[in-house]
Amino acid sequence: TYEQQLAAAKQFILSNDDFLVVSHIDPDGDAASSTLAIGWMLKQLNKKFTMINEGHTPGKFNFLWGFDGIIDYSKAAPSRTFEHVIAVDCADFSRIGKVKSLFSPTTQILNIDHHRTNDFYGAFQLIREDAAATAEVLYDLTMELQLNWSTELGDSIYTGLLTDTGGFRYANTTPKVMRIAAEMLQVGVDGNDLADRLLEKLTYSHVILLQKALSTLAFTADKRISWVSVSLQDIAEAGASNEDLEGLVNYPRNIEGIEVGILFKEVETNKYKVSMRSAGIADVALIAKSFGGGGHFRAAGCTIPGELQATITKVVKEVGLKLQ
Ligand code: 5GP
Ligand code: MN
Ligand code: MN
Repeated sequence: TYEQQLAAAKQFILSNDDFLVVSHIDPDGDAASSTLAIGWMLKQLNKKFTMINEGHTPGKFNFLWGFDGIIDYSKAAPSRTFEHVIAVDCADFSRIGKVKSLFSPTTQILNIDHHRTNDFYGAFQLIREDAAATAEVLYDLTMELQLNWSTELGDSIYTGLLTDTGGFRYANTTPKVMRIAAEMLQVGVDGNDLADRLLEKLTYSHVILLQKALSTLAFTADKRISWVSVSLQDIAEAGASNEDLEGLVNYPRNIEGIEVGILFKEVETNKYKVSMRSAGIADVALIAKSFGGGGHFRAAGCTIPGELQATITKVVKEVGLKLQ
């Protein structure tokens, strides 16, 4: 049960030391803030820990406690292995990316997540599929560990909730999410400042890329599926990094009558990362899974080799079948 998982997670943390804390590749708000929230908890418990990600953690999270402590593996890989790992917001082992090379054959992993498609890797799991964010699971863990709340921890938990619920708007915004968010405001989190930093503010590169993406906007004949694409050249011309692509998929998705919105993002020549968003009829996690990816009912992704037109045809056909 979840209560047993919480007790085991607590035991794993209290009885060990020298942890590696890792989140998924291309960290989003929940991944980055969950890494930092675990770091904060370990610090309170006087544990030694290393926070890491395969790549760059977006600078917009730099106001969070511990941000500068997250190591970019691609730039400064530690030259040692770790026996105790806490992986947060990683639906499957592969999403840990190259950081896995820091594990030894005897490494124990505590897998903390909220994805329905989690493949239960690791010696221990702490997974609640009805949680809106990994940050929500970490709220439960903080209670289990009986740690005192602080604005630092509150900022991280609130960031995870805010970003994974799209600003408390998605269907995963439960009464519990709002109660936890309210508690975070109570400990001094500035909700308006976080919403401004994380949701309202647009980078210049994002807007330029949006301009290019919207020029590719396309629809199926019945106008139930819509998509946009961005090429490596678009990304380069806009000077965009991964974080500048966030939210592009919402434009096709938010058009009235659209059941599934899709973003095709070129990640290598003839290789596309596909982001899918469903209005509620089609389970896009199933579609993503059929292409080797995963995610949630309404938000999922996968990466497909091949040319753009062939990839669009393949994916749109699969989505169309789910809408029949
Ligand atoms: P996004 O489209 O924003 O990259 O991802 C949407 C959701 O799908 C997220 O919950 C993310 O974890 C999941 N997701 C995206 N790409 C992949 C993938 O390649 N594999 C898996 N397992 N999940 C993915
Ligand atoms: Mn995530
Ligand atoms: Mn998440």
